[in-house]
Amino acid sequence: MWDFETEPEYQAKLDWADAFVREEVEPLDYIIDRPSNIRDPLFRRLVPPLQAKVKAKGLWATHLGPELGGPGEGQMHLALLNEILGRCKMGPMVFGCAAPDTGNAEILAHYGTPEQKERWLTPLLANEVTSAYSMTEPHAGADPKALRTSAYLDGDEWVINGEKWFTSNARYADFLIMFVVTEPDNPPYQRASMFIVPRDTPGIESVRDVGMPFDREGEGNEGYLRMTDARVPRENLLGERGQAFVVAQTRLGGGRIHHAMRTVGLVQRAFDMMCERAISRETQGELLASKQLVQEMIADSWIEMEQFRLFVLRTAWRIDKYKDYKRVRADIAAVKAAMPKVLNNVATRALQVHGSLGVTNEMPFVAMIVNALVMGLGDGPTEVHKITVARQLTSRYQPSPDLFPSRHIPRLREAARAQYADVLANYALD
Ligand SMILES: Cc1cc2nc3c(=O)[nH]c(=O)nc-3n(C[C@H](O)[C@H](O)[C@H](O)COP(=O)(O)OP(=O)(O)OC[C@H]3O[C@@H](n4cnc5c(N)ncnc54)[C@H](O)[C@@H]3O)c2cc1C
Repeated sequence: MWDFETEPEYQAKLDWADAFVREEVEPLDYIIDRPSNIRDPLFRRLVPPLQAKVKAKGLWATHLGPELGGPGEGQMHLALLNEILGRCKMGPMVFGCAAPDTGNAEILAHYGTPEQKERWLTPLLANEVTSAYSMTEPHAGADPKALRTSAYLDGDEWVINGEKWFTSNARYADFLIMFVVTEPDNPPYQRASMFIVPRDTPGIESVRDVGMPFDREGEGNEGYLRMTDARVPRENLLGERGQAFVVAQTRLGGGRIHHAMRTVGLVQRAFDMMCERAISRETQGELLASKQLVQEMIADSWIEMEQFRLFVLRTAWRIDKYKDYKRVRADIAAVKAAMPKVLNNVATRALQVHGSLGVTNEMPFVAMIVNALVMGLGDGPTEVHKITVARQLTSRYQPSPDLFPSRHIPRLREAARAQYADVLANYALD
C-alpha cells in the first residue's frame, strides 16, 4: 500500500497548526531570545497560554504515547507537524517537542525506574523543568570511546569527576543526562553508564557558556562544565551499569530524525523567501525569476528539498513500522548526513538571490548557513554518519564467489548459454 496523503482528521490539525504557528508563534522569535530559558518572565507570560491552546487541540508532545501524556501519534505525524514547527525557533517549545528535552524524555521513558519517571520525566513533559544532554568532552566528541569523565561508587553515592563540553542549554537546565565512565575495565562499548545529574549538584562548575558566532562572548548556550567530586545518589543511574551506549543510541536516533523533520520546515522557509524575491525584484528590465541562472537555483533547490523531505518522511514511517531504531539506523544516519547540505545549499542560493540584503543581519540567511554548519557537527559529524551508512549498506551484501565480480558479463553470458542451451543449439552465436 503506497499513499502520499495525510488522513483528513490529522490534516485538519496540521492546517490549524500552520495558521497558529504563523499568527501566534512565529512573532515570539522576535521577542524571546532563548527558547530554553523557561524561567524568563517574558517566556512565562507569553508561552504557557499558547501551550494550553496546543494541549487543547491534542497536539502537545504528539510523539508520546498516552501513558506519557501524549496522543501517541508516532514519528510520521510528528514529521508532518515538525515541518511546520521548524520554521521558527519557538515552535517546538510551544508544542512540547523541543530538543534536547524530547530525546531525554524518550530515554527516561524507556529506561527510567518508576521513581525516576515521577521525579524527572513528569515535570519535563509538562515543561515545568528543562534538561540538557552531556556527552561531548573538550578533548573528544566524535569518538565516544575516548570520553573519560568518570564516576566511582562511594557508599550510596556516585562521585563524578571530569569535564563536559558543548552541553546545549546547560545554563537553563534543571538536570543533565550525563555519559560517564564507570566500568573502565570493560570492553570499550560497555565502559560507560548514564546518569541523571541535577544541575545544581555541588561540585559542578560552569567553566563558561560557549557562544556561537552571533552571541556575545560569554553569553552562549553551550555549557563547558567541570565536575569535581560531584556526588549524585546511587539511584540516579539511568539504565544498567555499562549500558550508556545502548541508552544513548535510543536518544540520539530519535533526536537526529527530529532535527531533520524541523530542517524540512526551515529549508522550505528559505525556499519560499527565494521564490518571493525572484518574482518581486527586477534587473535589466525583467524579473529575477526570468533569468535562467536564477531559475536553475530555484529548480535545484526544490529538487533537493523534495528529495530530502520524502527521505525524512519515509524514515519516520519506518520508525513507526518497525519500532526499532536499530533497524532504521542507515536511514537515520543518511538523513542526518544529507540535512546540512540541503539547508546550506538552499539558504546560500536564497541569500544570493537577495543580493546585498541577503547577507545582512536583517535577513535570516547567514544564520541559516551557520545553522547548517552546526547540523554537520551536532549529534555527531557528517563523516561519522556517512561511515555508518556505508557500513550498514555493505553489511547487506555477500562477497563475490571468486576473483571476478558476480555480475561479470562473461560469467553471466556463460550461465545464460548453459540455461538456454537447448534453444541456442539451433542458433549460431558469436
Ligand atoms: C551547536 C552544537 C550543539 C551541540 N550540543 C551538544 C549537546 O547538547 N551535548 C553533547 O554532548 N554534545 C553536543 N555537541 C557536540 C557534538 O556532538 C560534537 O561537536 C560532535 O560529536 C563532534 O565532536 P567534536 O566537536 O569533539 O569534534 P571531533 O571529534 O574533534 O571531530 C572533528 C572533525 O573530525 C572529523 N572526524 C571525526 N571523526 C571522524 C571519522 N571517524 N572519520 C572521518 N572524519 C572524522 C570530522 O570532520 C569532525 O567534524 C554540540 C555541537 C554543536 C556544534
